[in-house]
Amino acid sequence: MITYGELEALPQEANGSSASEGRHFATRRDKARRDKPVLLWLGAVHGAEVEGLTGLVNLIQVMETGVDLRGREQPTLRALGERCRLLILPCANPDGLARFQPRWTYGMDPATARYWSHGTSDDSGAQESPDPGHLRGGIAPSQSFRGCHFNDAGVDPMQDEFFGRLSSEVGAVLQIARDEAPDWAVSLHHTLYGPEVLRPAYVPIEVQTAVGGLARRYVQRLARADLPYVPPFEPGPDGGDPPPALDLVALLYHASGATAFKFVCPCGVEAPGATRVTPEQILDIHLLLQEALMEHALQLKSDSAASGPRRPANALPTSARD
Ligand SMILES: [Zn+2]
Repeated sequence: MITYGELEALPQEANGSSASEGRHFATRRDKARRDKPVLLWLGAVHGAEVEGLTGLVNLIQVMETGVDLRGREQPTLRALGERCRLLILPCANPDGLARFQPRWTYGMDPATARYWSHGTSDDSGAQESPDPGHLRGGIAPSQSFRGCHFNDAGVDPMQDEFFGRLSSEVGAVLQIARDEAPDWAVSLHHTLYGPEVLRPAYVPIEVQTAVGGLARRYVQRLARADLPYVPPFEPGPDGGDPPPALDLVALLYHASGATAFKFVCPCGVEAPGATRVTPEQILDIHLLLQEALMEHALQLKSDSAASGPRRPANALPTSARD
């Protein structure tokens, strides 16, 4: 993990569950006392999805030198970054990334891209994935090629067995979330479509609404830059058949109170209906997300500071709790 901005340590008097049950959430971590918003960025949780990683190493370069890896000045992004604490994990799944020989999926056909992501159990090594491992509770079946979604133990960190023994990757990410109590956390992925900020599942409606506010700001940025976008989601209840997956994004919220979401960008796989983008546009899509999220987090922080002190702990309604 690479960090920018000093740590502003906060006392923790309660875990998330008891802080909510006691109706005083700030006893978990009083994030309003920090000067800077804390933003956690996870790249390449799926090892073949290197676009977010590329965006993050460019962000590191910008924070170090003021220019991205193309040599382009990024004064706005750097100035925003200096007003935040940034926690950057360019790659949250090193095993999967190490297995990814092509280094990007740009220009691949969908079957080949699926092979590198999900692997194959076909002994002939056919680049088909009729039985993707992620359909088996996050554990890859015995495979002749294990896809890059998985760590070397066969676990997809997005869909780990969260109520069992955690993979080392998920354990480490959640430990960072607990230690740092970020205000925001994002897991960066790719898809054929997008770019899109996805609605987080199994979080309070207020968290969905906050992510939706970011999505609206981001879409405006994309439109101004003449980049493709998907209209922002509407917050709503979780349900359906099948119901949404409980994934690492929800765990990040529950572990730390962070406003957490998943982001997907187009990856240039050649498929009918896929979003057409150049590699440079993929990078711009990520740099604009970084800028929009920092700006949004800073604005929410200054709005909440302007609205004055919050209700004190002793305002607990006597009839509310047993
Ligand atoms: Zn993914």
